[in-house]
Amino acid sequence: MRTAVVLFTRDLRVHDNPALAAACASAERVVPLFVLDPHLLRLSPNRALFLHQSLADLRETLRRLGGDLVIRTGEPVAEAIRLAREVEAEGIALAADVSGYARRREQRLEREGERHRISVRHFPGTTVVPPGGVRPGGGDHYRVFSPYHRAWESAAWRDESATPDKVTLPPGVAAGRLPKAPENESPGAAPGGESEGRRRLAAWLRHIEPYDDLHDQLAADGTSRLSAYLRFGCVSPLAVANAARGIGGPGADAFVRQLCWRDFYYQATAAFPAISTEAYRRAGDSGWRADDDALKQWQNGTTGVPVVDAGMRQLRAEGWMHNRARLITASFLTKHLGLDWRHGVRWFFRWLIDGDVPNNSGNWQWVAGTGHDTKPYRRFNPIRQAERFDPDGAYVRRYVPELKSVEGKAVHQPWRLPEAVRSDLDYPGPLESHRDDAVWLRP
Ligand code: FAD
Repeated sequence: MRTAVVLFTRDLRVHDNPALAAACASAERVVPLFVLDPHLLRLSPNRALFLHQSLADLRETLRRLGGDLVIRTGEPVAEAIRLAREVEAEGIALAADVSGYARRREQRLEREGERHRISVRHFPGTTVVPPGGVRPGGGDHYRVFSPYHRAWESAAWRDESATPDKVTLPPGVAAGRLPKAPENESPGAAPGGESEGRRRLAAWLRHIEPYDDLHDQLAADGTSRLSAYLRFGCVSPLAVANAARGIGGPGADAFVRQLCWRDFYYQATAAFPAISTEAYRRAGDSGWRADDDALKQWQNGTTGVPVVDAGMRQLRAEGWMHNRARLITASFLTKHLGLDWRHGVRWFFRWLIDGDVPNNSGNWQWVAGTGHDTKPYRRFNPIRQAERFDPDGAYVRRYVPELKSVEGKAVHQPWRLPEAVRSDLDYPGPLESHRDDAVWLRP
């Protein structure tokens, strides 16, 4: 092949990028392309900024390899086809993805490619094991995690793709400008980019050992914080899993298991693309209350339940929330306030830098009791959770400064403090649960 276009989507890296590697191996000239879709950029300022930083970094790297990142703005399929025709490309390569949006884009690209006699090829790289790469006997996807995990662990993983040592653009292609960086909404947001992702991965691998013991402890912050880099493909999920496997031990094993959860929700979404709006199990999806005021308090982190408020404020401050806090806050919204999980999906998706359809919606449905591998009657008691995973209250005091003066685990139930102390705190009393068995709220 003489010329190929590589349409980057959320595989913003040159290492272990099967689409880029295949194009560089088979074509003399390669046009790396990213199309800024204004619709996607509006969904979350935090993700728009991270994307911007990741594109700037990818452009630098591609320039060092002798090429460039061509940037266009508009409808991705129309722009990719237009450019492919302009440079007389015979093929377009891209990473396969699972969300409804991505699948529609892939189908349109295939149709348009056929119309213009440009071959369109999809490559793996968004997950460790591609969706559909392992299947249960007689089914198209796994509904339960444990058997999926066993099949995933023993599946043959593909070989990592080589990083190209040279990228040659055809002459005369206008690279296009990266627009001005969007505003930073979350002061503690992690910066995007493959260089930063690889640096953080290397540092994380040196600290992975206690992960098994620490990953649920809220104040310890003992998780990798690689989720946004995985979300945008700044690091390769396969390369991350291989590196951790190479280290071995309980910490690395527990970490690789979490990467399997990520793949689990990707294969679930591939089979059920309506995961963000429709309950996977309809049985549990009814009786949600309408209470705008309670929803606002939850969003603002002013429910009066400290561990819930700490999580919700961490979300805004960093564009990230600890997994244990995501579980607690999600359970509080759906099981204690009785509000529809879709409100939670939308709010998290608005703020999370790692926000993506499979993991966000899959986890929300899991907590709400409507999803895959879910237990409809499971509820997290926020006080018991707080006392177990933030025993000294340090996490709460970090994000809820109104409670800074309250020492130890007493911070988890300010309504139990003596009236004289309580009245000095500028902190609300707890929102009432819609359930009358919410005994944890009683003084
Ligand atoms: P680590 O503990 O270091 O885990 C390593 C990687 O494994 C993560 O980066 C992530 O890619 C994957 N992972 C870990 N836990 C899960 C999980 N429960 N499900 C799927 N993958 C997992 N994760 C997202 O990436 N995007 C989301 O939009 C998202 N929304 C969530 C919403 C709710 C209500 C809940 C309960 C969880 C959600 N998660 C989501 C999963 C999890 O909370 C984050 O992946 C994790 O907190 C990211 O931090 P980390 O990179 O330090 O994780």
